[in-house]
Amino acid sequence: MADDLFADGCAFIDEESFPIAEARIPIIDTGFVRSDVTYDVVAVWDGKFFRLKDHLDRFEKGWNRLRMKPNLSKDEMREILFECVRRSGIRNAYVEMIMSRGIDEHGSRDPRRFRNKFYAYAIPYVWIVKPEIQKLGIDLVIAENVIRIPTNAVDPTIKNFHWGDLTRGIFEAYDRGGYTAVLLDSDGHITEGPGFNVFAYYKGRLFTPNIGVLEGITRRTVLELAEKLGIPTKLTEFGANVLKEAKEVFITSTAGGVMPVGKINGNPIGTGKPGEITLLIREHYWEAHNEDQWTTTIDYIKRL
Ligand SMILES: *Cc1c(COP(=O)(O)O)cnc(C)c1O
Repeated sequence: MADDLFADGCAFIDEESFPIAEARIPIIDTGFVRSDVTYDVVAVWDGKFFRLKDHLDRFEKGWNRLRMKPNLSKDEMREILFECVRRSGIRNAYVEMIMSRGIDEHGSRDPRRFRNKFYAYAIPYVWIVKPEIQKLGIDLVIAENVIRIPTNAVDPTIKNFHWGDLTRGIFEAYDRGGYTAVLLDSDGHITEGPGFNVFAYYKGRLFTPNIGVLEGITRRTVLELAEKLGIPTKLTEFGANVLKEAKEVFITSTAGGVMPVGKINGNPIGTGKPGEITLLIREHYWEAHNEDQWTTTIDYIKRL
């Protein structure tokens, strides 16, 4: 049963649940002081998790590659995510799970000896682009003053907190009158933006970068829906020109879904309004949130 204390969100830390505003982690946690951490975000829409297994699988891959050893099983983590949502009673939720290198208990800096920590929380659904702004189409800027951190420094396929480049991109977008930014790599290839992947409908095909990005679950859903809808796709490296010359551009994230871009660097894309292909895919994306194949229903009454 939902509990009013938790109505704004519920967090799980060290085997306890907290109302979101009271949730605290130790200040010496290396997830905080070293960004030594991986995380994932899964959405709950109308009381159902969307692609929960895919998010948990990506999360597990991340912590394994960071050589972390959680003291909880994946099934236990999964149950905690359900409990966070259940307690909050939130029907459209943003559910984050975090695996941190955690705490040093031996007075050593040897990362093998840290106690890894699992945290989770559920809060109301987050839109990185609000639906009313999506109607107009986003002003997307291709950043010029910052590049995406090289993949041989930080592996972008492990969802991470190394947001220095992405945050600089956001500030550059604001300085140039844009809404958000997409970053290039050092060779001038389009990568991704703060928490989203990018697609361009260009010469009759849907382009998205094949490397240098987080393999977003929303990105994967779009690729699968495109196949079903008979829209050709191409995973490839491409430069800024493809975005600028595309008929349609959109960005994708668990926090907002399929979000139309209206302008690149201040210049209209296509008609400058959300494009047909974009809207078609967005419609199917939200319909998928109702389909058994993709979703897991939450029993809000049950308690651990
Ligand atoms: C989370 C994230 C995305 C989008 O991934 P989804 O699984 O679709 O939410 C894309 N890029 C970065 C850098 C991210 O952190």
